[in-house]
Amino acid sequence: MKFGKTFEKALAEDEIPLQWQKNAIQYKQLKKTIKKLVEEFNELGLEKDLIQNHLKSINSSTSIISLSLSSNSSNSLNSSFISFNNLKNSKTSKIIVHTIYDQTFFLSISEQILNLDTMKDNQENLMIKQINYLSDQISSLSSPYRKRNDLYIWRQIFEIYNSYQLFFKFNFISKNELNYSISKINFYKFVDEIQKKDLLSQFHNKKVSKQIFNQFLNLNLELIKAIEFQYLNKIAITKILKKFDKRTFLSIKFKFPNFYVNDPFINQSFSINLFFKIQERLIKIIPQLDDYLCPICCSISFKPVKLDCGHIFCIRCLVKLQKLRKDACPICRKNNVLIADHSNLDLETMEFLKLYFPKESKAKQKETENEIAKEQCEALIGKSSCLIQ
Ligand SMILES: [Zn+2]
Ligand SMILES: [Zn+2]
Repeated sequence: MKFGKTFEKALAEDEIPLQWQKNAIQYKQLKKTIKKLVEEFNELGLEKDLIQNHLKSINSSTSIISLSLSSNSSNSLNSSFISFNNLKNSKTSKIIVHTIYDQTFFLSISEQILNLDTMKDNQENLMIKQINYLSDQISSLSSPYRKRNDLYIWRQIFEIYNSYQLFFKFNFISKNELNYSISKINFYKFVDEIQKKDLLSQFHNKKVSKQIFNQFLNLNLELIKAIEFQYLNKIAITKILKKFDKRTFLSIKFKFPNFYVNDPFINQSFSINLFFKIQERLIKIIPQLDDYLCPICCSISFKPVKLDCGHIFCIRCLVKLQKLRKDACPICRKNNVLIADHSNLDLETMEFLKLYFPKESKAKQKETENEIAKEQCEALIGKSSCLIQ
C-alpha cells in the first residue's frame, strides 16, 4: 500500500481525533506539488537524468539546493538555486532557477509543521489542565482527613500504574522512551490488572472515584494517541522529503532538516513533558510505602529515628544496633548511632506515617510490642541475654 493511504488509514483506524487529523501533514497534496515541480523542471529543460549526467561529466559533487530564510518572515524560503561544485578546479558555479512549485512545496510543508506546533502546544495545555483537575480531585478523595477516603485504593492503582511503565523504560542509568504501540499494550495490561483485582468496587466514594479513574484512563489514552500522531507525522515528513529528492535532482534531505532543527513538534516528544507532569501532579500526591521503608528491616520506619547523618531507621532496628554497640550508620558508615537518643525521633515523619499509612503503622507497632514481650519473657526464663526495651 502506498504511504499516503497507509498514513490516512492509520490516523482513521486508531481513532486519532478529527481535530488533530485536520492538522496532519498533507502527504498526498505535497506529493502532487512534487509532481508539478518535476513538470516545471522538465519544461525548463532540467530533467533529472540530464542534470545528473552533466554533473558527472564536469566531475562535480552532488548538486544542492540552498535554502535560506527570507528576512521578512521566518516561515518562507527564498527561491532555490543550484550550485555546482566543480572538483577539478574547485570552482563553484551557481545557476539561479526561479521555480514556482519548489516554493509552494516548502511554504506548504513549513506551514503544516507550524500548524502541528500550535496543535501540540494547545493539546499539551489542555492535558496539563486536566492533570491539575485530576490532581485536586484525587487529593480530596484520598485525603486522610476525609472520613471515608480512598487513599489505599488510589495508592494501589498508582503502584500498578507505575509497575507497567507506560511511556518510558527505566533502568538504573537511563530512561528510554517507548514506542506508542508498546505503550498501548502496557496501558491495556494495566487496565486488565485493575479489573482482575476488582479495585474499583472497593472505592468508598464509588461514583466520584470511578469517574475520576475513567478520566485518568482517558488522559493516558489521549497521550498515547498524541505520541502516535506525532510519530506518524514525523514519518510522513521524512518520507515526503525523501520523495522530493528521488524525483528531483535537489538533495533536500541534508538541507531542510536545519530548518526545523529546533521545531517543538518534531523534536520534543509529547511524553517527556506530560509523563513527568502525571508523575509529579498525580502519582506522587499519594505517598508510596517504598519511600518510607527502614533499610534494615525493610518494613515501615515506624517510629522513625533520624541520625545526625540524615539517614532514617525504625526505632526498633536502631535500638538493636545500640545494644550491639555498633556506632556506624549502616548506610554511610558515619559513627553516629550510639549518640542517638529521643531527640533523634523524627516526630514530623512519624505523624505523617500515622496519617498516610495507618494500617502499616499499627501493624508495625503491634509487631514491635510482641517482639519486646517475647524478649522480656525469654529474659525472665533465662533463654536469652537480649535486653532490648
Ligand atoms: Zn527497621
Ligand atoms: Zn548515615
